[in-house]
Order: sequence, then structure tokens, then C-alpha cells
Amino acid sequence: MKTIYLDNNATTAIAPEVREAMLPYLGDLYGNPSSMHSFGGQLAEAVDNAHEQMASLLGADPDEIIFTACGSESDNTAVWSALQTQPEKRHLVTTRVEHPAILNVMQHWERQGYHVTYLGVDNKGRLNLDEYAQALTPDTALVSIMFANNETGNIHPIQRMAEMAKEKGVLFHTDAVQAVGKASIDLKKIPVDMLSLSGHKLHTPKGIGALYVRKGVRFRPLIRGGHQERGRRAGTENVPYIVGLGVAAQLAAAHFEEERFNVSSLRNALEQGIVKNIPDSIINGDVDNRLPNTTNISFKNVEGEAILLMLDRLGICASSGSACSSGSLEPSHVLRAMGVPFNYAHGSIRLSLSRYTTQEEVDFTVQHFPEVINTLRMISPFKE
Ligand code: PLP
Repeated sequence: MKTIYLDNNATTAIAPEVREAMLPYLGDLYGNPSSMHSFGGQLAEAVDNAHEQMASLLGADPDEIIFTACGSESDNTAVWSALQTQPEKRHLVTTRVEHPAILNVMQHWERQGYHVTYLGVDNKGRLNLDEYAQALTPDTALVSIMFANNETGNIHPIQRMAEMAKEKGVLFHTDAVQAVGKASIDLKKIPVDMLSLSGHKLHTPKGIGALYVRKGVRFRPLIRGGHQERGRRAGTENVPYIVGLGVAAQLAAAHFEEERFNVSSLRNALEQGIVKNIPDSIINGDVDNRLPNTTNISFKNVEGEAILLMLDRLGICASSGSACSSGSLEPSHVLRAMGVPFNYAHGSIRLSLSRYTTQEEVDFTVQHFPEVINTLRMISPFKE
């Protein structure tokens, strides 16, 4: 059975070009970039090159990129640095729909005595700019708001929100793990101070990420030790993965418009093909303002996990909008924050595409979705 991978917001396939570029650094080119000899020196050049490639995708300067191990590390570092450089400030602003890589960090700092404002969203997952403006105070050390939501694909108005923070002299971080390579991001225009990204959402292997820190923004490292990454992230560089992320950034930049068009056309065909043929199904999120690759659909009176299992039998990989906590299947915090009705939220599925998704895969999925939902509805314990 062929695998149809529609779970690219969870992780992505490694691009062949990325793998090819990495291979020499898993073989003969094993030196340490910090060594004085030229054998190591050639690796320092490869790391510099990757800084340039990543910076070029974002409209940044190579010195503004710090390679990390993952998006979570970048998020942790951003919050840590903002608090360490402004010890007098005790307030943070974020949203209720962030990834746990931010939400759990915020809760940690709350336990240390910080005050955190969690902004709510409306039923389409949109933030309210008036509520946001009121949340910014002279005591606010950092705003951290995701560029795009991992469950719905919603894109937040980061440029406007970063400008508003700047007017009040508040630092602004965005978790752009889902957005980099899929949404247009030009850091010459969008005045964020820090931005997190992750390689494995961008067709590299898992275990590499980056944090952008704007020139002039005061910074304190989370991981101290050697002088790697200009003293901002200690640890001998993970050269093969850094090289891979550089190439992934270059690929994303080179094919950006074409991919956005192709992927969003396939996503729209998939989404319309499903909701058109299945009664009592709704699309979650802001359909006018979201990532081109993501759709989140709720089916009334079915369990998301049961849908996933039946899709899995057909070879289709997806994600549900539920999280198994304390033995009960709770709708995700994102769908709850949006107020999606309970009998819909339970049956939510996220389908996320990539440049490798094909028309045949979309057609197969559209063809088989109704039988999955109909079968489950027949045996569903949920009734009106
Ligand atoms: N932030 C968002 C929005 C994510 O979707 C993810 C991963 O799913 C992360 C952060 C964490 O990234 P990583 O897996 O690289 O730590």
C-alpha cells in the first residue's frame, strides 16, 4: 500500500537536494569548524554559507541567524533572552493558540512569578488588535505570537502587531516554525525582534532550527559554553544539518511562488472535494488568511481518532484536533479557544500538504473520505 502523506505540519520528507548536500559532511568532511587547520576551516565556510542562505530567505543579515537544535530551543531562547536582558520587566504577552513550545514556556515563567496575558481568538481563530493594544504595558518584557497556527494554518497580522509593540518599546518574537517557506516573510519590512524556525518543517531531517535576532537587540544565550554562533549558542556546530537547512532555505526561496500556487490549488481541491461530499462538515479557521498547505475540517458526531485510524488503513497520514489527556479525548486547545462546538471539535482532522503532494493523492483521499465518515457515523455513540 502506498503512503499518502498529508501530515506535513507534523514533519516533512527530506528533500533529495538537502540529503545530497549533507552527505559529504556525514563522510569525509567531518572536521570541527573551530579548528585552526584548513580541514576544519572548510566546514566553517559551509556554516557561513548556510547563514547566508537562511538570511536570504528571510530578508535578514547572515549575522542575525543563530542555528539551534529545533524550533522549541529557538522559542525557549527567545523568551529567556528577553527576560534576562530586562530583569526589571515582569510581564509577557502571548496567545491561547500557541504551540506548547511557547505555551509551556510561558507557564514555566508564570510559576517563577511573571504575569502572562493570553490573548483570545474569535471563532475563526483571529486575534483582536484592540485587546492586544491594551495588553502592552511598560512592564511588558516580550510579546510572543506565532506567525501561523500549526492546526488551522491561520496567519496572524504579525507586521501590524510587531509595529504596535515597537511603538510602545516592547520586544516582539514570532514563532514562525510553520510559516517559514510557506508564507511571505521579509524581515526588512516586518519589524520583529526575534523569529523562530525549524528545519524539519522545511524538508530537512529533525534536529536543526534557527533563531533570528535583529541586529541591535540585546541577547543572552540559553546554552553557554564555547564561542560558536558568535557566542550566542554554544556547542560544536551540527554541520551536516546546518548545511541541509541552508539548502532547504535556498530551495524554499527558489520555488516559493510556484509552490504556493500548486500547493494551495491541491489543498483547495482536497478541502472542497471533502466538504462538498460530506454533510455536517465545516472548515475551521480563517479561510481568507491561512497557509497554502493546511486545512482543518470538523465532522459532526464522529471521533477524530477513529477517522485517523480508518484513514491509516487506507495509507493516508493525517492528524486530529484532539489530544489524549487523562484518558479522555479533549478537543485541542486551539479549537477550544475558537469555540468550535463540542460535537464538531471532537471530529476534527488536519490535512497538511507539501511540494511533494500529487493530484492522484488528493483524488484518492477525496474519493475515500465519505465512506470513512459514513461508516463512523453509523456506529457513532454520539446522536442528536
Ligand atoms: N512551534 C510550532 C508552531 C510548531 O508547529 C512546532 C512543531 O510542531 C514547534 C514550534 C516545535 O518545533 P520543533 O519540533 O522543531 O521543536
